[in-house]
Amino acid sequence: MTARRNRSLVAPEGNTVGDADLRAVRTALTAQAQELRHELVDIDSALSSLREDCELDAADVGVKTISLEQLRLQQDRAGAALSRTVAALGRLDDHSFGRCLDCGRQVDRERILAVPHAERCVRCEEAYGRL
Ligand SMILES: [Zn+2]
Repeated sequence: MTARRNRSLVAPEGNTVGDADLRAVRTALTAQAQELRHELVDIDSALSSLREDCELDAADVGVKTISLEQLRLQQDRAGAALSRTVAALGRLDDHSFGRCLDCGRQVDRERILAVPHAERCVRCEEAYGRL
């Protein structure tokens, strides 16, 4: 799932993450986690019904392999997104939320509101992406 930019989260006041921001972020992350859990359940049942459906001819087997692969990719992505989301909720609980995991600096408010599960500031994220 791609991170949606929720412009309604962005309040006009400065670059400080306030309590209202944190509440909005918590709501967004909780909804995102819920959505991802549903997605994973759906993927899981699609995978099992694909596996159970054995009466296929050769052409169907090719199609089946492709959709199995797509579903597994989808499952990996949703699973990874869910762990990032749950980790961000954990950081909200232990009050480390909003700090870059690498350099420890405050992540830009705009970035936090646009990508609440972000783990790094833009600079560290770029460096991390190049590894
Ligand atoms: Zn950083």
